[in-house]
Amino acid sequence: MKTFCGRANPTTGAMEWLEEAEDYDYHQEIARSRYADMLHDKDRNVKYYQGIRAAVSRVKERGEKAIVLDIGTGTGLLSMMAASAGADFCYAVEVFRPMANAAVKIVAKNGFSDKIKVINKHSTEVTVGPDGDMECRANILVTELFDTELIGEGALPTYEHAHKYLVQEGCEAVPHRATVYVQLVESERMWAWNKLFPILVEAEDGEKIIVPPLEMENCPGVPSVCDIQLNQMPSSDFTALSDVVTMFSVDFSKPVQSASTCYRVQLEPVKSGKAQIVLSWWDIDMDPSGMINCTMAPYWVNPTSALQWRDHWMQCVYFLPREEPVLQGEKVQLAASRDEYSMWYTLQKARGEQNEADGAGSPVCRCLAHLLWTRARFGQLNDGERTRRYVEALRTVLNTDSVCLCISDGSLLPVLAHYLGAKQVQYFILVFRLLHFSLFFKANHLEDKIKVIEARPELLKPSHFEDKKISVLVGEPFFSTSLLPWHNLYFWYARTAVSSHLTSSATVLPQAASLHMMVVEFQDLWRIRSPCGICEGFDVQTMDDMIKDSLNFRESKEAEPHPLWEYPCKSLSDPQEVLTFDFRRTVPQHCLSTEGSVNLVRKGKSHGAVLWMEYHLAADISISTGLMQISNEKGHCEWNPHCKQAVYFFNSVTDSEPLSDPAAVTYTIQFDTKTGEVAMDFKL
Ligand code: SAH
Repeated sequence: MKTFCGRANPTTGAMEWLEEAEDYDYHQEIARSRYADMLHDKDRNVKYYQGIRAAVSRVKERGEKAIVLDIGTGTGLLSMMAASAGADFCYAVEVFRPMANAAVKIVAKNGFSDKIKVINKHSTEVTVGPDGDMECRANILVTELFDTELIGEGALPTYEHAHKYLVQEGCEAVPHRATVYVQLVESERMWAWNKLFPILVEAEDGEKIIVPPLEMENCPGVPSVCDIQLNQMPSSDFTALSDVVTMFSVDFSKPVQSASTCYRVQLEPVKSGKAQIVLSWWDIDMDPSGMINCTMAPYWVNPTSALQWRDHWMQCVYFLPREEPVLQGEKVQLAASRDEYSMWYTLQKARGEQNEADGAGSPVCRCLAHLLWTRARFGQLNDGERTRRYVEALRTVLNTDSVCLCISDGSLLPVLAHYLGAKQVQYFILVFRLLHFSLFFKANHLEDKIKVIEARPELLKPSHFEDKKISVLVGEPFFSTSLLPWHNLYFWYARTAVSSHLTSSATVLPQAASLHMMVVEFQDLWRIRSPCGICEGFDVQTMDDMIKDSLNFRESKEAEPHPLWEYPCKSLSDPQEVLTFDFRRTVPQHCLSTEGSVNLVRKGKSHGAVLWMEYHLAADISISTGLMQISNEKGHCEWNPHCKQAVYFFNSVTDSEPLSDPAAVTYTIQFDTKTGEVAMDFKL
């Protein structure tokens, strides 16, 4: 069966109806899933196995039969561990049908079909009794339902239900307990992902400050977790204001409550500073004694122990509703509130304020920016060097007669353009919720200087511009619909659509963009797309094949977006410019394509190619959304921390048989101007 899905093409802006095979979504889910990453997480797997063995032994020592309930079995891995450890029977519950089917195959292939029953249901639908899915309640509960925030994937309601209906009282649970840790920090870098800082502009008539509106300053933000690879955050980028403390624990062997609640701890600041951020992570004890511990603690917590790299569990950054000065030694109270699926933090200094936290409901963003902008977008707008380049470039193209049109989402360029001399800035964005921008212009007294036009570029009429012609067209370009670097080429399509409104000598800034490519070896990221084969002695190749099938579901493999500052890699080739897009001209009818080869200049495993865009704002002023520099002779790369880059994994990563190192990589890359899609192929 085919399904038609309507969507705006992120690059061309055209509304299109795509014919999607019904199984498209699930192929996407499998291809981009974290199953491979989990299977590569040796530390997790070993500790689950130890915990499961210990739990089965404890039950056997009591002279009972070991009946296991494995909720969210995925590949069936944890049930197979239990069966090997001597469990009498396992109920393996999995809600996602393709995975449940895979589990049946994997269980059979490993010879456990008589010990493991796969149930393709959500655990809350599972029935117990002579005619039920389970003959009787289980006495061992095995689960791996955690996300980086621990509870975001619904672990609490699932446990609550399981204890009520599916397991015996006093059951063993693997993991036995989870503990959430917190540390209060000050960090300009991370705070810049949450608040817009004032921006200084050197204008002709003196220094100007662009201020964020009060609504934005005072906005408590949203309770959505910011999960990152905290191990990539150098210690110079934050200051610890407290020690690491335990926020709360959950014992999974006892009834669990999912209802909203609040936990409190007293902190004694170890340093005076501005409390802005709560860094948080968790660990799980696989057994009651706490001897088998699997931790997400970042590098500075246990400096001597080896870190397990994983992407399915990272660390959390929580932004306090507002920054609060704290004094060394002067106690403060930190409150963690949670509902069934999310957490948020508040800080109280004086005792009397406690009531506020008792009722601290989930924060609601009032300025809309926290709803519309990603954390990276905040960071990008706060990037002083980036702003400086736009200012410098704008200065070269604007004069007092300029009539300027800006096409970008939620951009400050019109404000900059105004201060740098444009008589009239016309401003247009595609997001229809403009509230925060009206607030923005108001806060800076620019309501009558900048006009916001809510219209798609092809629908603009001369009357929108009071019958004036546009002399300067600017864009960052940035659009919130962009996932891959080239999606921001929408600027080019919009520029083409507004051509008739431009003067014959109009300036377009950026004047061009170029697509760059480099072959890299990842330190760890390769694991997420690499087959696993045998996991702790169990053959999970069926899963590898399934992922491969899903990756190959589209005729041409796709590149995927990753923020590479979080995923270290080394360059194996020099960076190469592969395509250019001339914004001074309209989008051509024909495809843009290129082919060539890159020599590998360093030894290493060619895991894939990274692609990114560079924008050429004016002569000699460019902005890279990808590589910032290669920082040493070993090829360590530094990436723009506010953008995702495109990663194309080579077959050598996704096939189980890697090739021996090639000397060069040949490529063909094509930009289809009709569909806005970039297709590529690489040969090693
Ligand atoms: N247990 C496997 C896979 C863990 S991933 C392993 O450790 O390798 C978690 C899986 O649980 C996903 O496949 C998800 O679809 C499934 N899941 C989550 N909540 C569930 C629930 N309440 N009932 C059934 N399946 C669930």
